[in-house]
Amino acid sequence: MNTNKSDLSDLLSMSYEEVEKLVDEIGEKPYRAEQLYGWLHKRGASSYEDMRNLPKAMKEKLKGRVTFFFPRIREKQVSKLDGTKKYLFELADGECVESVWMSYHHGNSVCISSQVGCRMGCTFCASTLLGLTRNLTAGEMLAQVYAIERDTKERVSNVVVMGTGEPLDNYGNLVKFIRMISDGKGLCISERNITVSTCGLVPGIRKLRDENFMINLALSLHAPNDVLRRQLMPVARSYALSDIMDAMRDYYSVNRRRLTFEYSLIRGVNDSEEMAVELSGLLKGMNCLVNLIPVNPVEETAYRPAGRGDALRFKKKLENHGIHVTIRREMGRDIDGACGQLRKRDAAKRGDLQGV
Ligand code: SAH
Repeated sequence: MNTNKSDLSDLLSMSYEEVEKLVDEIGEKPYRAEQLYGWLHKRGASSYEDMRNLPKAMKEKLKGRVTFFFPRIREKQVSKLDGTKKYLFELADGECVESVWMSYHHGNSVCISSQVGCRMGCTFCASTLLGLTRNLTAGEMLAQVYAIERDTKERVSNVVVMGTGEPLDNYGNLVKFIRMISDGKGLCISERNITVSTCGLVPGIRKLRDENFMINLALSLHAPNDVLRRQLMPVARSYALSDIMDAMRDYYSVNRRRLTFEYSLIRGVNDSEEMAVELSGLLKGMNCLVNLIPVNPVEETAYRPAGRGDALRFKKKLENHGIHVTIRREMGRDIDGACGQLRKRDAAKRGDLQGV
């Protein structure tokens, strides 16, 4: 299966240098490259019609050379509790991805998807139920942010790559996305305001360290030992926790950004005080934050979220060992919160999934 959609002729995925070359090739003046790139990456143009100061003839030439597609909002849910907005975007080939917009006191944050589906198989996650369909291009990752800015008419200050997909399983496009979204010619989102979350692909973590980005890295941990982690996350059979933690420490040694560990609390599975103590041992001496998330129930699984009392006890235990902990504010609790639920429901409606 070819999961890499060719991005050779995908205008939104082209770097500034690639756009300069394209503009030269179609015989336009160099300053047109800056205008075109600005329309695409600063001003969120959704079609050539938006690009008012570009000559018609240039647009016609572009249409013959490249594809330009802007995602269509297929569905949007708005939380009545906190204004969180969840989008289901339709891409050029009809595939759909989810993105979430959240407003915090420090600014607006967008959670984007990095793949259509996912092949990591985490047992508690709705996004992986249908497997991986394909990787997203850099342009498709960028366009989720642009389409949300366009719809909300608000600036986005933080981006988390924590939606559907495993970002380090789509490494090249992820890195291009990070370069383009943090670039001054685009939205210029500071690398410090970008977070990538991984289930723990060690070679990917090591490669990312070598990029020397200032981005934040989050690891989906969910268990304090390999035995339990292998039950919850098939990927844990490929990489031992000791190797993952070494890779995380190495990552930290380069950019000195506090690491985040995500831990979904599943009732009766990973929420005991003993596990909290074991987790403290694993994270000892690290500059990190543990983000506790009561697991979002997914119909297909028997997992239930830890109770409030157990979550608080788990948090306290970690804090007693000097570890920073937050219990994630449940944003948009009243809308299809869990990863992949919206897309899954949409697919079921269209009959792609039986019995869901
Ligand atoms: N593949 C990446 C990013 C996508 S998943 C990763 O594993 O980090 C984003 C986060 O949501 C991960 O921490 C994932 O483990 C978590 N997650 C997935 N399904 C969940 C659920 N039903 N309840 C709570 N967290 C979930």
